[in-house]
Amino acid sequence: MHHFAYRRGASNQNVLHAEGVDLVELSGTVGTPFYCYSTATLERHYRVFAEAFTGVPATLVCYSVKANSNLGVLATLARAGAGMDVVSEGELRRALAVNVPPEKIVFSGVGKTKDEMAFALDAGIFAFNVESEPELRALSEVAAAKRRSARIAFRVNPDIDAKTHHKIATGKAENKFGVPFADALPLYRLASELPGIEASGVHMHIGSQITDLAPFRNAFALLKELVGSLRANGFTIDFVNLGGGLGIPYRHDEPEPPLPSDYAKLVRESVGDLGLRLLFEPGRMIAGNAGILVSRVLYVKRGADKTFTIIDAAMNDLMRPTLYEAHHEILPVVEPMPGTQALVTDVAGPVCETGDYLALARKLPELRPGDLIAVMTAGAYGAVLASEYNSRLLVPEVLVAGDRFAVTRPRPSYEDMLAAERLPGWL
Ligand SMILES: *Cc1c(COP(=O)(O)O)cnc(C)c1O
Repeated sequence: MHHFAYRRGASNQNVLHAEGVDLVELSGTVGTPFYCYSTATLERHYRVFAEAFTGVPATLVCYSVKANSNLGVLATLARAGAGMDVVSEGELRRALAVNVPPEKIVFSGVGKTKDEMAFALDAGIFAFNVESEPELRALSEVAAAKRRSARIAFRVNPDIDAKTHHKIATGKAENKFGVPFADALPLYRLASELPGIEASGVHMHIGSQITDLAPFRNAFALLKELVGSLRANGFTIDFVNLGGGLGIPYRHDEPEPPLPSDYAKLVRESVGDLGLRLLFEPGRMIAGNAGILVSRVLYVKRGADKTFTIIDAAMNDLMRPTLYEAHHEILPVVEPMPGTQALVTDVAGPVCETGDYLALARKLPELRPGDLIAVMTAGAYGAVLASEYNSRLLVPEVLVAGDRFAVTRPRPSYEDMLAAERLPGWL
């Protein structure tokens, strides 16, 4: 569910709108390409997820900042009540900058530095998700030196196949994430002996874009078993962090992934009776459908074998198609007249890489140079993965709320791009 829809536009044609904002007009103001986010969609997704756990006391939904870390997006979610899951000091600073209460922040990631740990301890975050014994020892040193206590959950790797793209599966034994299930008990024992550590939680995050509840069911069953055995061994466990990973619909021709309410029902059945505080880290599920990438057609190029629609957005703006073989629906911003011919085309950008495409062999209504297109479901893992590759300016981001919009990340100028670098003195 999202708030991008065709409506009668100023030109008397049906034009794709972001809430109340006409995307033809917005493109004229901002220039293309740009990302556009919908406040109503962000809020709705947060609420649908949070409200699925109504009645479960003290549930904490920590939006996974890495999915979309635009300050406008974070401030919108913070205002709705979200906590945040961060994976770096940079993300933590973003969360603090939009006034997320530190006691609603958790810190994940396999490579936290001691400086980052110190910063997070000083900020007073709720908990660290600890992913290895050396990380535990480092955190203990940092916390003890500050005479502080770091609340932690070990991220346990349950060796479960999340049945998702291999680059976003995180819960298999061969993945770098988490500590092996069999090592958990000795690690909690070690944690109880180290200064500055309070190991009172268990964390699991098995992957992203998971569209089947079975891997979650298996993971939660293992989690429950682990909490039981930790408690039986005398450890106090009062929270579990179930991670993120719930999938979203990217294609109209595939079955819908489970609803947050189905997921919540499974959570309640699996771990609802343990008297635990429940934490979640949804990212894609909140931001994915809340964003689109708007781009303009530059050329239609008829190759020997196929037709290429060359647009002004490229893999450096949206990496998902080439990085994850991801599918994004593409819609013309101005709704085609009935009877417009459809044709099969690759939609590619100006970057000098064969992997630079946003869609392959896609059936689209015939597009002409100057036409605007919207790449749908680009709100998560879109702008955050953008780069300046080929010295293309970083793509701007716009947040819409009703009839209003704000450019929350302006397009830099070429002067800005060059000014970011320094020539060595000898040149
Ligand atoms: C990326 C990540 C998430 C968010 O995953 P989604 O699939 O976007 O919900 C949650 N927790 C951790 C630890 C992550 O690394």
